[in-house]
Amino acid sequence: MKVISDLNQPTLVDRSLAAVWHPCTQMKHHESFPLIAITKGKGPWLYDEEGNALLDCISSWWTNLFGHSNPRINQAISNQLEKIEHVMLAGFTHRPVVELSEKLSALTNGNLGHVFYASDGASAVEIALKMSHHFWQLNGKTQKKKFVCLQNGYHGETLGALAVTDVAIFREAYGSLLQDVYTVTSPDARKAKSGESAIDVAKHAAAELEQLFKKEHQHIAAIIIEPLVQCAGQMAMHAPEYLRLVKDLCNQYEIHLIADEIAVGCGRSGKFFACEHAGIWPDFLTLSKGISGGYLPLSLCMTTNTIYRAFYSDKTQHGFLHSHSYTGNPLACAAALASLEIFASDNILEKNVIGSQDLAKAFAWAKTDSRIEHWRQQGMILAFDVKKERIKNTNSFALEMFNKGIEEGVLIRPIGNTVYVMPPYILSAEETMQMGTSVQRALEKVLA
Ligand SMILES: *Cc1c(COP(=O)(O)O)cnc(C)c1O
Repeated sequence: MKVISDLNQPTLVDRSLAAVWHPCTQMKHHESFPLIAITKGKGPWLYDEEGNALLDCISSWWTNLFGHSNPRINQAISNQLEKIEHVMLAGFTHRPVVELSEKLSALTNGNLGHVFYASDGASAVEIALKMSHHFWQLNGKTQKKKFVCLQNGYHGETLGALAVTDVAIFREAYGSLLQDVYTVTSPDARKAKSGESAIDVAKHAAAELEQLFKKEHQHIAAIIIEPLVQCAGQMAMHAPEYLRLVKDLCNQYEIHLIADEIAVGCGRSGKFFACEHAGIWPDFLTLSKGISGGYLPLSLCMTTNTIYRAFYSDKTQHGFLHSHSYTGNPLACAAALASLEIFASDNILEKNVIGSQDLAKAFAWAKTDSRIEHWRQQGMILAFDVKKERIKNTNSFALEMFNKGIEEGVLIRPIGNTVYVMPPYILSAEETMQMGTSVQRALEKVLA
């Protein structure tokens, strides 16, 4: 964790700060907090140049499911590498993309049987928005072109995805570039007044949505939602009831439902798809982050036969003419197939029931801490808020927690005053306990 530089012998960190513009970072902050050069990873552990170990409590930005340098995924990529590393997906196909599409379709019982690929999450969201818009055009409902999104929602940072994102810090500078959208109340369960349940909050939010749909449905193409957990929006959780209510309203008013499961999909919520908790299927479902086990950039948008058939025509321009150079990359698909194989052979969803109980135990201390409120959990996501009045400097709290976490050997990256963990699915019970204790120590240091 070297930060001190010797001009004659620049460290890897020095060279990175000079040449690499890091994401989601005010680069000047690195004058006072360390940039860490990682040289290897094994299981849930990351190692820096000096061999210090860090427990990856946030799955390297919510991507890594089965640990770093997982032998089975390594082998699958290596096997694929011997066959074909990449080929364009227009006019060509290959076994990994076919098998991955079939397996994903089967996981939805064929409800979302058509899979369109891209490389990053934001692009998958763009695809869902464009497909919805285009579908209504093809159906002669050319007025249906606006999107509804939720307060506090996050769907990525390209211009289309950012338009349906409601996180001020990401939007502020770009507002004038973004299309107009309807932003409705989030069903965030933290808003429950005394005597109210999460379901009550969900019902109020859905009632407000119904008013909008009633008035504007002729102009609305789709609503986009992060099912159950608005992750970037401080891990705000809501009742599955909200999804059922929204799905009913969408049916009633002919509006598409886009479920953005980029963060909550792939078992994170406790089921493979978060929508399964509500027993609904959306018109579009996006996946990325965990789908390749955290190995390679891969994203996808799944949709129904109804949507697919609307584009099926003799006319070229009625097709969905969207593309990315690396669409359906065979190596990424091989990593994804290996990940799905691990889900099946190792009964990951069942094991995660135990894993999430371990998680709750490891963070039981936070439930009774008077400086903490809104302790919450959904599957393999656990979060709580540190009361703002107990924090000396709310602007730097997240950064200080990150720094103290590093000292304690854990990688955590709080969002505002929300501390959360979202670990890989392979932690032992001991490692989970260790995570809870280390996060507690880091918090004590920051609040001291
Ligand atoms: C991360 C995320 C995205 C964007 O994915 P990128 O790969 O970062 O573009 C979109 N939606 C949700 C819910 C996410 O968590």
